[in-house]
Amino acid sequence: MSVPSHFKLNNDVSIPAVGLGTWQAKPGEVGNAVSHALKSGYRHLDCALIYQNEGEVGDAIKGSEVPREEIFITSKVWNTHQTNVAEGLAQTLKDLQTDYLDLYLVHWPIRLIPNETSQLLPSNPDGTRSVDPFWNQKDTWKQMEEVYKSGKVKAIGVSNWSIPYLQDLEKTWEIVPAVNQVELHPYCPQHALKQWCEDKGIYLQAYCPLGSTDSPLLGDSEVAAIAKKYDVSPATILISYQVNRGCIVLPKSVTLSRIDANLKVIALGKEDMDVLEGLAAAGKQQRVNTPQWGHNLGFDDWFGPGNVNAPKK
Ligand code: NDP
Repeated sequence: MSVPSHFKLNNDVSIPAVGLGTWQAKPGEVGNAVSHALKSGYRHLDCALIYQNEGEVGDAIKGSEVPREEIFITSKVWNTHQTNVAEGLAQTLKDLQTDYLDLYLVHWPIRLIPNETSQLLPSNPDGTRSVDPFWNQKDTWKQMEEVYKSGKVKAIGVSNWSIPYLQDLEKTWEIVPAVNQVELHPYCPQHALKQWCEDKGIYLQAYCPLGSTDSPLLGDSEVAAIAKKYDVSPATILISYQVNRGCIVLPKSVTLSRIDANLKVIALGKEDMDVLEGLAAAGKQQRVNTPQWGHNLGFDDWFGPGNVNAPKK
């Protein structure tokens, strides 16, 4: 059995199954990582304005020998730009030094009101994030549809959207999101969200597929046992798990040998997929990325120590 190298989005755009993540890739590191990735065969980069490194990513793309049209570039409209998506997109296009994106996402279903504390991560006087409780996400999506129609982005989608948020958006969407980029790994498989999205023709993209920084997953004994069986690393199992279940996967690394290694995807047998799909239900459910928005995002399992997003008992 072979695993797909690409998936086809709901508007027929082809997307490489593995993309290089760029969050927390520091200035001075990220350009090197992107240059190396493009040399070693990556044709998919996952970027965002809030990562504050798109300029260096753009330089690396420009300095590579790979033609722009061969690279699938994703970026995301940041929360403070939700009232003016076109402005956020213009900034990203300028920084990435390109005149179009392959995929543009709504980063979070949350609008932040910029203020004197910050244009990107503004706070209220009490230290909480300055979330706009009145902003309607349908108005953000309307603007996404407009930039799609302008031809500046080849596909549009969302990120960090739970089923209740998507059900609300569905009432007015004219264009169905092509993807929903969410936290996905064996400790957070999001089975119900995956099913809901698949039924609508929306691909899930796996962020934090390795469990992010200081991952609890890379040392998991059951992942390690499967890795031993196939004679590969735990990271290869975690990346392959996503592609085998039909999800696009976005491992991040700035370490050249890991960048190379993370392109490897192997076919996993049903019994091994069953183990990986069942780890969370067997008691290992855990999120690794839970920003404190102070807002209920509608995820059933959105919890963590002291997290204000946790359901109130
Ligand atoms: P990942 O799960 O990709 O893990 C990255 C960490 O794993 C880094 O510390 C990296 O170290 C390490 N690592 C990478 N490869 C290996 C390997 N083969 N073996 C051992 N360790 C390895 O985490 P991210 O949180 O970065 O998520 C991936 C991407 O998803 C992001 O970069 C971003 O593009 C996207 N994302 C999107 C979000 C959203 O809200 N839409 C939220 C979070 C992430 P090193 O770099 O030092 O090699």
